[in-house]
Order: sequence, then structure tokens, then C-alpha cells
Amino acid sequence: RNLGRTAIVSNKQIYSYDNLLTAADAINSELSKKLRNPASRANVGATDVPDRPPRVGLYAAPGPEYLAATWAVWQAGGIVVPLATSHPPPELSYVCQDAGLSAVLTLPDQEARLGPIANEHGAALQLLEPVAGSSTSTTRIDSSSSCVGDSQETEAAVEAVAADLRDLSASSTSGALIIYTSGTTGKPKGVLHTHRSLQAQVYALASAWRWRPSDRLLHCLPLHHIHGIVNALYCPSAVGASVEFLPKFAPAAVWQRIQSGDISVFMGVPTMYSYLLSHYDTQAAASPERAAALRGAAGALRLTVSGSSACPLPILNRWRELSGDFLLERYGMTEIGMALSNPYKGERRPGSVGTPLPGVEARIAPDGQLLVRGPNVFSEYWGRPAATSEAFDADGFFLTGDTASTSGSPPYFTIEGRTSVDIIKSSGYKISALQIESVVLEHPGIAEVAVLGVPDETFGEVVTALVAAKPQTAGTGLAAQPEIGELQRFCRDRLAPYQVPKRWQWVTALPRNAMGKVNKKELLKMLQAGQL
Ligand code: ATP
Ligand code: MG
Repeated sequence: RNLGRTAIVSNKQIYSYDNLLTAADAINSELSKKLRNPASRANVGATDVPDRPPRVGLYAAPGPEYLAATWAVWQAGGIVVPLATSHPPPELSYVCQDAGLSAVLTLPDQEARLGPIANEHGAALQLLEPVAGSSTSTTRIDSSSSCVGDSQETEAAVEAVAADLRDLSASSTSGALIIYTSGTTGKPKGVLHTHRSLQAQVYALASAWRWRPSDRLLHCLPLHHIHGIVNALYCPSAVGASVEFLPKFAPAAVWQRIQSGDISVFMGVPTMYSYLLSHYDTQAAASPERAAALRGAAGALRLTVSGSSACPLPILNRWRELSGDFLLERYGMTEIGMALSNPYKGERRPGSVGTPLPGVEARIAPDGQLLVRGPNVFSEYWGRPAATSEAFDADGFFLTGDTASTSGSPPYFTIEGRTSVDIIKSSGYKISALQIESVVLEHPGIAEVAVLGVPDETFGEVVTALVAAKPQTAGTGLAAQPEIGELQRFCRDRLAPYQVPKRWQWVTALPRNAMGKVNKKELLKMLQAGQL
């Protein structure tokens, strides 16, 4: 229904839905042949199950081929397994083996990198033809439905997504996508989503965030995580909107594209917003006019979303000063897609992740754990039946492993943190590391912080803060860095005495993964081994 519309903008070329479907047909016919050929189904890794649909790895830079290849795998009856372009060969090899890939799709320039890995695991390698597009300078970006009001345009798009979801009920168990978790708390696990659970996620977001065909999202998230692939790619393409890929996140480039006026939606992880704010500060120091133009551009975005980890309050507040509105913060996981969201219209509560999205049930167990049930939830951890059954309670609710609370009416949810690493048990108190981090970050001299519970005989765990100073103060000697006593006083004014970190440790920067997340288990080990 959106054939002529722009699906992808990449490298100054535009690609219509029509272009991508044609490309998908070609990829599918070659892939189907390969999958029928038993020689290329040689991968009988530990997790290969012959009666399951073939798993097909996808390793490609963001671009039109990504969507075309995804559709092709689905047409061929396969399950897409996105491979991280940032991962070194051993990690790629782990996923090839764990998912039991039958084939790997990649672009010609990656043949040398992927060929040996595919070969090692007995998976067929298929090179994707670059999709033909047209130059942006000759083809205008369409906003062909400008004659229809925004709300009508949204209603029609959301209804079409809802109809697709209803049609999917019958084939609800067919697998579509395996995404590996970020590996923040252990070895990444393959999470299987069906066509139906993906469509349920897309429907919930399309309807809650009012997606419309005239939208254009600026995309600079990794495509091997749910945030980048479902929220920021499948969702816009389900409503016929456009996605413009930036090959790599760079604050100046993002600001430049936002200022063009072509972009209506931006999605990022909190560290990206922190970089965008720093860039704004530099511009504001140089020219008040430039700063005003950036503020205007940020304020003109229809939807600006933050997620993947807790957005610190100072970032939320500063973005609001800049753009006039809070970032829309939402909460989700690989296993459940998005579950909770602040409203598109209505009160966005800083520090809270809002209320359940359409179709999602959320409740809090007596021990504080957040539980989630609904059509959005995954069906299994690939090849890990025991982990799958342990992940659900007797009522079919998924145990998120995150601790949450609610307040107000309607109840808004607040994520206190991961039960395993962010909930610190000290002197009989349960302390949220995220709450303390938010406060420490309000200090003008602090750029980054991670709060950990370090095991201790007297207290159980000791609240410990690892802090990095702002770049302009770091490197100029200790005097420019805030004194620990000053940080402690700052916290004492804003937190209960038992929440104030007892130990502090300076670091130059916190190690983060592709999603900007800090692995606290690793960090604790490094701290205890004196490696920080
Ligand atoms: P692994 O499961 O391998 O340890 P991971 O849990 O980091 O890795 P993801 O599924 O990508 O992998 O991340 C989901 C987690 O991210 C959630 O469980 C939650 O802890 C965190 N998260 C996501 N959004 C938010 C948010 N808005 N506020 C707080 N935490 C969030
Ligand atoms: Mg997890």
C-alpha cells in the first residue's frame, strides 16, 4: 500500500518501498535455492533443530539492503538473525554456532570477513546486490499525504497495522527474528520473536506514538538490538514512513540533519543525548544565534525518544530546557519489546517510564520485580529450554529481572534498576543505584557515574561510586576535579544518609557496550582487581 513512498534514505540516495520489494524478490529466489540445497544446511550446531525454520544471519551496514534482506528471509520462511557489525570474529562465531545458521547474507565488501566464519559453521554465504536507488537531489522526499490531516493519516496507518496483527493470529507461532540480548548480565541469549510478537510490538508503538506515513526517522542505532531494529526500523516501515540512516552516530551530523527540517522522529540511548547536549553547549558558547537555531530544530521534532537504559534526570531536564519538551522515555527489553512508555500527549514524568503500552499487562511482584505479559512477549530463548521456563511465572508473566515501583493515578512505573546489580543491599536498606547516579550527575563537575554495591562484611554491600570528571576539568589536574568531600556534601543534601556513597573512585571514562550500557558485574570485578 505504500509502494511509491520513500522507505530508506541512505548515503544521499533514496529507496522506495517498491525498490526494496523488487530487491527482496531477487534475494529470496537465490536464498530459497540455497536453503533447499542440503549441502548448505550442513550446520548441525548444538542448537540446530531440523524441524525449525532455517535461521539466516544478516550482516550488513545500515542501508536499503537491510530491509530488503529481512523481507527476503521472511518470504523464504526463515528466521532473521541480525549479526553485529561491531562484533569481532569470535562473537560473530558464537552467534553463528548458537543460532545454528544455515546461511549468512552480507554485502560484497564484507565477504572476506564473513566468508571464513560462515564456512567454519557450515552456513552458506550469500552476497547481497546493492539495491538501486535514486539521487535525493532529483527526487523530492515525498509527503504525499499532506492533503490528509495528521490525525487522519495516523488513524489510517495504525488501523492498517492493527489489521495485519489480526490477520497474524492464525500463524502466531512462526518464528521471525532472533535478537541476542546485550550481554549486560551474562553471555548474550538468543531471543526468538514470532511474526505475531513483532507485529504486536509494532502495533503498540504505532498507536501510542502516533506513527504516520509522512514521518522520517533519523537512524543511528545498532540494528542488532530491539531498539534499533523494531522501534526504529520495523515500526516506521510498517506504516509506510521513511528511515534515514546515518552510518555512525556523530553529534554534529545529527544536529545538522535535525536542522534540515526533513526529520520528524529521533530515537537514542541516553549517552547520545548527553553528546547532543554537549555539542549544543559548545555551539551556544560560540554563537547565541546558532544555539537558538538548534533549540528551534529540536523543538520542531514530532517525537524524540530515549531508552535502552535509564535516562538520568539532568539529561531529561536539560533537553526540556532546550526543546520545550521532555524526551519521551520508555522501558523495554529484548524479550518483551517495549512494555512501558510515557505518553505521547499528556504528562511525561521525569524519572518514570510511564504506563503499559496497548496490549501489555505489567505488575509488580511482592519482592519488587517487574512482571510483564502480553502478545509482545518472546516465545523462547533459542536452544535454552530451561532458561525459557525459568523466565515465566505460573500465570505466564515474564520475570524481567528489573525492580520497579509505581506511584500516582493512573500508576506510572519507575524502574529502580536491575535486581542483580542496581539494587544495593546495605545495612538492611534496599537502595536504587539508578537514583543515586541521577543525583551525582546533577553535579556540574561530573560527566559519568556508575554506582555499585561492593560486598562488605559489616554493611553487606557498600554503596560505591565510580565517577568521571567533565572533560574540561579532567586533565587540568586534581584541583579542577571536584573534591570527594564536596561530592559527599552534594549527595547528603539530596539523598537519605544511607544512600550517600561511602566510597568514591575516579575513572577517566566508564567502559560501555554498543548500546551505551555499563556492565556492572565486569566493573565490580575490575574494581576489586584494582584495574580501575
Ligand atoms: P542481558 O540480558 O544479556 O544481560 P540486557 O538486559 O542489557 O542484557 P537488553 O534486552 O538490551 O539486554 O536490555 C534490557 C534492559 O535494559 C532492561 O532489563 C532494563 O534493565 C534496561 N532498560 C531499558 N530501558 C530502560 C529504561 N528506560 N530505564 C531503565 N532501564 C532500562
Ligand atoms: Mg536482560
